Amino acid sequence: MPESNDGTIESEPTADPAVTTEVVVVGSGPAGATAALLLATLGIDCVMITKYRWTANTPRAHITNQRAMEVFRDLGIEQQILADATEHGLVGDTVFCTSIAGEEIGRIRTWGTRPDREADYRLASPCLTVDIPQTYLEPILVRNAAQRGARVRFSTEYLSHRQDEDGVTVEVLDRLTGQRQHIRARYLIGADGARSKVAADIDLPFVGAMDIAGSMNITFKADISGHVAHRPSVLYWVIQPGSNVGGIGAGLVRMVRPWDEWLIVWGYDIAEEPPVVDEAAAIQIVRSLLGMPDLEVEITGTSLWGNNEMYATRLHQSRVFCAGDAVHRHPPSNGLGSNTSVQDAYNLVWKLAAVLRGQAGPALLETYTEERAPVAERIVTRANKSSREFVDIFEALGVLGADSEAEMAAAIEERKANTAAGAAKRAALVRAMELKNYEFNAHGVELGQHYASAAVISDGTAPPESADADLYYAMSTVPGAHLPHAWVGDHAHRLAMMDLAPYSRWTLLTGIAGEAWQAAAETVGRELGVPLETVVIGPGREVTDLYYDWAKLREVEESGVLLVRPDKHIAWRAATLPQDPEAQLRRALLSVLGRS
Ligand SMILES: Cc1cc2nc3c(=O)[nH]c(=O)nc-3n(C[C@H](O)[C@H](O)[C@H](O)COP(=O)(O)OP(=O)(O)OC[C@H]3O[C@@H](n4cnc5c(N)ncnc54)[C@H](O)[C@@H]3O)c2cc1C
Repeated sequence: MPESNDGTIESEPTADPAVTTEVVVVGSGPAGATAALLLATLGIDCVMITKYRWTANTPRAHITNQRAMEVFRDLGIEQQILADATEHGLVGDTVFCTSIAGEEIGRIRTWGTRPDREADYRLASPCLTVDIPQTYLEPILVRNAAQRGARVRFSTEYLSHRQDEDGVTVEVLDRLTGQRQHIRARYLIGADGARSKVAADIDLPFVGAMDIAGSMNITFKADISGHVAHRPSVLYWVIQPGSNVGGIGAGLVRMVRPWDEWLIVWGYDIAEEPPVVDEAAAIQIVRSLLGMPDLEVEITGTSLWGNNEMYATRLHQSRVFCAGDAVHRHPPSNGLGSNTSVQDAYNLVWKLAAVLRGQAGPALLETYTEERAPVAERIVTRANKSSREFVDIFEALGVLGADSEAEMAAAIEERKANTAAGAAKRAALVRAMELKNYEFNAHGVELGQHYASAAVISDGTAPPESADADLYYAMSTVPGAHLPHAWVGDHAHRLAMMDLAPYSRWTLLTGIAGEAWQAAAETVGRELGVPLETVVIGPGREVTDLYYDWAKLREVEESGVLLVRPDKHIAWRAATLPQDPEAQLRRALLSVLGRS
């Protein structure tokens, strides 16, 4: 049992002015805080530094998808997140309107809340998409990271670093005292956001451009339950004069807390001087988007930000790795930024831990770029496409050329007419609204990340094809795929498949006919010094295939095996029990760990 010392030992000043640690994490956003929490959970010493005195001060990210929730489940903080989140049932009726109190153009059920899509989402994961503003999420991550041993330093700015054969020396500025200090580490993670200095310092190659459109955020308080509670959603899109200028596709009124805290995203022309958004201007925009000219509003903040379309094609250089917006920069469309940042950390940290502990060769670290750079490209492309696809709604309504509010209103009114033009408009709206599924129900983009790298051994099978790779996620055990979801357990417990393969180890999954894998895993795990456990699924074993779903999902015989990585991706599989399971397992593990 650890000695209780009220933290005095950990906080003891050292004689050496340089701090030493295994990993320095720059940034306490979703990427950095998740990385620090994962490192601390695995018992890897880390120092997380962040420039400001606290975590995010605006509720930027909010849609938290199933994969990110799975990471939090794995970390044992799912219930803490759910306690602060707006539940799944309230996130879905995304509305398109001329203002909150004005004409409604239509709705789309989003984030898997349409009954047919809800089935896809529920079958794919033990978790559902929820809404938790970044201002609530980050403190949970940081608190748990610190509780588990991460050393967290606020008001500490990354200035530069120098790499050598054994490690990285990071120069930081203590913004409270103005003093510079060095932190010596084996590795550095730059999770310092879209203007990443770490990414610039290691000269990561980027494709695309920054600041392609201008947006402003206005946060405010006003109870408008009467206008929204019957069509509960996170997102209310507003089509008004100016709402297709800059911004993220249209004007947005976004729920922060139901139904009295809100965030507006409104665009501006980035080619012009940045607008001055004082209190009067902010109130005017709020009242106009809400369609409530006399509403009492409390403005709680304003900020300007640029939309980006840029991704890195390499995510690391030797001992320095970048994660999150540092390597993928895009509009919030599809709600992918924070979610992907969390998953970057989830991919990277177990690899760093394995190398630091001598379980893997440094070659394993190369697979971070191999696996996550294609994800960065995919999400940046998808988010920007989704933002642009709003134009279809403007075109369908015929408002693109409208010069005045009156002209726009007349064009929108025409969809009600019993005329050929009215009918054409209605038909165009059906198509334009359908297209928004690619932003709000893009389950394939959210979950369908398939890895091809040296940390995966292909068995020659191609990844499964779905009807539409952006919209639909196809579960599979093809090496590189994410472990499929099913519920398993026994008379007293219900577990998700992911619960059988925790982040702290490698897991072999087999059936009763494959019990011989157990002995093989014990020998190989011990010999290689790698934490490796076997879970036998079947009646009378650790867990039973309660619903008989797993037998249909596993794609190998009962005697076959899946080797699951700490991040739940399938590293290798064997269709049946071979003559010498030990030799095959040893070869596979050595190869994926970069030791062969
Ligand atoms: C309006 C809006 C809505 C959004 N909605 C969603 C959504 O629904 N879902 C979603 O997934 N994403 C969403 N996003 C995107 C999301 O906010 C970002 O993708 C996410 O914050 C990226 O996380 P990060 O940790 O990489 O970077 P950041 O959150 O930007 O964090 C960077 C960190 O680095 C620190 N830092 C920077 N420079 C230094 C330095 N020199 N030294 C020390 N520390 C430094 C900062 O203090 C900060 O802690 C939205 C964004 C916006 C603007």
